[in-house]
Amino acid sequence: MRLLIIHVFFIFSSVNYLYSQNDSIYNYHPPLEIPLILSANFGELRPNHFHMGIDFKTNGVEGQKLLAIENGYVSRIKVSPYGYGKVIYITHPNGITSVYAHCSVFLGKIDSIVRLNQELTKNFEIELFPSSTEIILKRGENFALSGNSGSSTAPHLHFELRDTKTETALNPLKYGFDIIDNISPSISGLKIYSLTERGYRIKGKTKGIAVQKGKFGYYVGGNLVTIPSDFCTASGGIGLSFEVIDHYSQATNPIGIYGSYLIVNNDTLFSHKLDCVSFEHTRYINSHIDYEENLLTKRKFQKSFKTKENKLTIYSKEQSGIITIQPKDSLIIKYIAYDTKNNKSELKFNLKVLPGSINTPLNVKNEDYLFPDKSFTYKSEKGEILITEGCFYEPSLKNLKTSNNISIGHSSTIIQTPIQIKLPLKDKKYGNEKYYIAVNNSYLATKYSNNWLSAESKSLGEYSIKIDTIAPSITPLNFLKTDTILKKKIIQWKLSESKTNISDYDIFIDGKWCLLEFESKGSYAFFRVTPDLIGKHTLKIIVKDVCGNEAIWEKEINFQL
Ligand SMILES: [Zn+2]
Repeated sequence: MRLLIIHVFFIFSSVNYLYSQNDSIYNYHPPLEIPLILSANFGELRPNHFHMGIDFKTNGVEGQKLLAIENGYVSRIKVSPYGYGKVIYITHPNGITSVYAHCSVFLGKIDSIVRLNQELTKNFEIELFPSSTEIILKRGENFALSGNSGSSTAPHLHFELRDTKTETALNPLKYGFDIIDNISPSISGLKIYSLTERGYRIKGKTKGIAVQKGKFGYYVGGNLVTIPSDFCTASGGIGLSFEVIDHYSQATNPIGIYGSYLIVNNDTLFSHKLDCVSFEHTRYINSHIDYEENLLTKRKFQKSFKTKENKLTIYSKEQSGIITIQPKDSLIIKYIAYDTKNNKSELKFNLKVLPGSINTPLNVKNEDYLFPDKSFTYKSEKGEILITEGCFYEPSLKNLKTSNNISIGHSSTIIQTPIQIKLPLKDKKYGNEKYYIAVNNSYLATKYSNNWLSAESKSLGEYSIKIDTIAPSITPLNFLKTDTILKKKIIQWKLSESKTNISDYDIFIDGKWCLLEFESKGSYAFFRVTPDLIGKHTLKIIVKDVCGNEAIWEKEINFQL
C-alpha cells in the first residue's frame, strides 16, 4: 500500500512538473456553462491588494451553474458575510487548487455538510477543511450556483487558481482560460521622481507629464521631457511611473496590464510581469503604485522602480529601476506595456537633465522619522506603541503626541504591517467589555487584560478609548412593521450598529434555532421560509455587537404561500 501511495505521488508530481514546463497542455473545463467573458483580470490594482483571480460575467444574474475545472476534492468551504462570501476550494491532483467565490447556493453533499455544521455550531459563518475523500468532484461537475455573496457588488464569479502547497495565487490566463483580445494597453500618464539610493521618493521633487495618443502610438509633447538638475543626487537617481490600463475586445470595462519594460538607452532597466502574487505580499501594492497620487486624484501610476523593502516577486530580480543621472545628461527612454495576448503599447521620449547643481538633501533629524528598516517602541504610563521593522514603505514623520490621547504618524500614511497599541483602562463605570480602542474614532478589535486594552491597527493617527453601551437595531426590510401575514420566500431585516461591529445574529422560530443569513454589504439579515413553516410561528431575532450589547426583535408571523 505504501509503495502504491509513493507511486501515485510520483505520477502526480511529474504531471505537475510537465504542466509548469508547458502552458499549452492545460485543458481545463470551463467553470461556467455560459461563454467566458471577463469583467476583471489577474493583478488589477485594487485597494491594498492586487486582484488575485479573474472575474467572469454571469449575465448580470445569480444562479449560473459552477463547474469543477478538473477532477479533484473539495478542500475548503467558507461561509462569511464578508470577503469571498460563500466560497469553494477544489484541490486537483496536479498541485493546483481552484477557487470559486461569491456563490449563492451550494449543492449536494457540500450543501448538506454546510447545513449540518451551521446547525451544530448555531452559526451562519463557518469554515471547513474536508479530507481528500469526503467530497470528490468530477471534471465538469456542477457543485454550486454563482452569486453575489460577500464583498461582491454585482453578480459574477471570482475565480482563482492557487499553488496548492504555497497558496500563491496564479494568473489563470496563463493556464488556458482563453479569451479573445486584440486591444493593446493605453498609456495616459507619466511621473518622474527624484529618489534616494533605497528607492524612496524625495519630497517635493516630482514631475507629472501628460501622455497623448497619436497616429503612431503614445507620445509626450515634443517627444522631450526636461528635469531640473536638482533631481540629481550624489547617491540616488530618478524613477518613473506610468498610468496604464487595458481593455478586452469583448467588454468595455477597464482591466489591468500583464507586464511592462522600462528601457533606458537600450538597456532594460526594470520589468514586471503578473504571473503570480502571494497573499502575504499582495499589500505591497501600496509600494508598487504611487499611493499618495491615488489618494489625492484616484489615478493609478505604477512605478517602474522599487524600494529595497518591496517583497513582491513580480519584478525581474536584482533590478531597482533607479536611473542614475548627472546634470546635462540626455537619455532615450522607452516604456512598453503588454497584456497576456502580447498586445503591446510603447511610449518613447528623450529625457534631458538641465545644467546646474545637484540636490544636497537637507539634514533631517533621524529621531523625527520612522524608517522602513527600523522598528520603533514607545512605552509610558499613558500607553504603548510597537512598530515592527518593515511596517513603513518609505520614511515617515513620527509626529508622536502623548498629551491627551496617543497619536503617531499621519492618518493618510499607509503601512504594510499592523502596529500594536496598548492603552491603560482607568475608567470603571462600565464592564471591561464595553470599552474599545479607536483609531481616528473608528473601532479596532480590542482585547482586555490586567487594566490594559490592546489592539492592532493598520491605520496611523490618534488612538483613544471609547465606550459602546448602545445595542444594534433590527428593522424589517422587505415587509412592514405592522405585517402579521407574510407571503414571501425570503424575509429580510436591516441590522445597524453605530459604533462597533455586529458579532452575532440568530433567529429562533418557536424557540428553536434556525439559520439567519447575513450580508455585510447593506448590513442585512435574511431568513429563507421553507414550505414546512406554513402557518403561525413566533419569530425572535437576537443581534449582539462586539461589546455585548444585545437587541431583540420578536413577533408572531403567519407564513402563507
Ligand atoms: Zn474578483
